[in-house]
Order: sequence, then C-alpha cells, then structure tokens
Amino acid sequence: MSATDRQAVADFLYLEARLADEGRYDEWESLWTDDALYWIPAGGDDPDPDRQLSFAYDNRARIASRVRQLRSGTHHTQVPPSRLRRLIANVEVFTIFWGPVWQQAPNSALVTQINQFFEFILTSALIDQMHEYSVPGRKVAHGKRIGSIMIATPKLHASVTDAAVQHMLQHEITTNAAVPKPTPNTLYFVYLEPGVKVVQGGAASCQAFCGYHSDISGQIFYAAMPFPGCAACRGGLPVFDALTSTSSHELCEAITDPIPGQGWYDDAHGEIGDICAWKTKKIGQYVVQLEWSNHAGKCI
Ligand SMILES: [Zn+2]
Repeated sequence: MSATDRQAVADFLYLEARLADEGRYDEWESLWTDDALYWIPAGGDDPDPDRQLSFAYDNRARIASRVRQLRSGTHHTQVPPSRLRRLIANVEVFTIFWGPVWQQAPNSALVTQINQFFEFILTSALIDQMHEYSVPGRKVAHGKRIGSIMIATPKLHASVTDAAVQHMLQHEITTNAAVPKPTPNTLYFVYLEPGVKVVQGGAASCQAFCGYHSDISGQIFYAAMPFPGCAACRGGLPVFDALTSTSSHELCEAITDPIPGQGWYDDAHGEIGDICAWKTKKIGQYVVQLEWSNHAGKCI
C-alpha cells in the first residue's frame, strides 16, 4: 500500500468514527455502499460469521434499519445511548519537556529518569493489567516510547491554558521534524517546567488536578503534566515518584478512555485512575498508581 493510500484510509476511518461518535447517523449511513457488510466478530482467532455468533453481521438493509431504530428514540437498548468505546491498544509515548529549565541540572536528570520510566513501564505488568479492557479485535498490549524533545519556546509564564498546550502541540507536530505525526496509538506527554500552573476548563493544577489527559478532535491524544510543586500534587512523595505516579494514572486512563468520557468511564466515579487516586504501589523501582479493575472489582 502506498503512503497516500494509507493516509486516505486513515482519514476515512477518522471520519467514520467521528460521525458515529457525534450521532450524525444520516451522514454515517451515507458512507455505506449497497454491497456493504458490517461485521463485528464476537471473538475467537478465526471467526466464521456463518457458523458463530457475531456482535453485528449486517447487510445494507439491516444497517439502514439499525439507523432508523436509533433515531426513533424508543429503541430500549439505546436509552441511555451507549458510548462508543475507543482505546489506545499499543500506546506509543512521545515526551515533550516544555521550558528552558529542563535543559539544566537538576531538572535535566529528571528528563532522563522520566524517559527511562516510560521505557520500562510500557512493557511492564502495569500495561498487562490493562488487558481486561481490550475489546474484540483490539487487544490492549505493550507499547513503547518513540522519542522525546525539549522545547524552550513559546516562553511559559506563571500559568498556561489547555488551549495553549494544544496550540504548542499542533505547532510542533506540523513544524518540527523531530515530532512524530499522530496515529491512533500516539500519546504525547507534555511536561511543564516548575512554577507553571495549568488551567483547563476553569480549573487549575494544584487546586483541582495534578495532571490530565485529553484529545484534539479525537485525533491527537495527549497528557499535560504540571510540575508537582505543591504538597497536594506530591501526595507525600519525592518529586520523581509523584511524577511517575501521576504519569501512570494519565497513561492508563488515556489507554482506556482516550477521548475522555467515551471509553471506560463511570458516571459517578470517573476514569479507572480517578477511582484509585493516590493509592500507589511499586513496579520495578517505580512508584505507580493503582488502577480500577472491573474484573477484580477493586483497585489493583
Ligand atoms: Zn484521572
């Protein structure tokens, strides 16, 4: 397949997913041709739709009737409407250290340590724990760290908004050859230099959160990690341990709920990391946060 074909296929899948996510079912249905077949196997290594049960195995007429049922508002399995479950199955982490302070000791040592943390943790038991959140055809499995940069501009001030984080990220992706283009597996981790407060949705770091993950138009997945300069975000831990704990929290949540609220998300308790906030354990030499397990019914 040529590079152009590949991009065209990816663009089409993004469009299809966005129309479905936003409930734009007329536009979604118009993407289907008359000989279309919509098949979601229920599992197994070599499923046969004629002999085994499938989650969906629809011809074009059945696709149309599903859309009609959805729009009737009386389809009982869709009250409330089900969420479309998006996952990052083989996460590829790229770290961005924002602010000139990262280039000097002692913070430059933290940069090395954080990158080493990702190299270890992405193939560790922490990711194995995420297996249970796999869906048919999308197994959550080990990932890798694909690179890292330090940037000094744009210059940071006492606080930075989420919009500015997104703007920086998009700018780096389009102009900096060292920054990989986003794929469905790419997760950018943005670390802010000490003393910078991050403001998202009217709330600020050290007051309402110690880090968060989010998405840009469902296509670019990222986490924003303010420096844990306050007691509330250190949780009694040394700075590096607080950073790995918070980073593991955002990592596991981004894998299981990359578009916040559309994946593994509980209306009362939030994402799998939120339920277990500040309960930590060690994997190898690293402090990580416990994560909720549906399978175990507790934080593990
Ligand atoms: Zn969280």
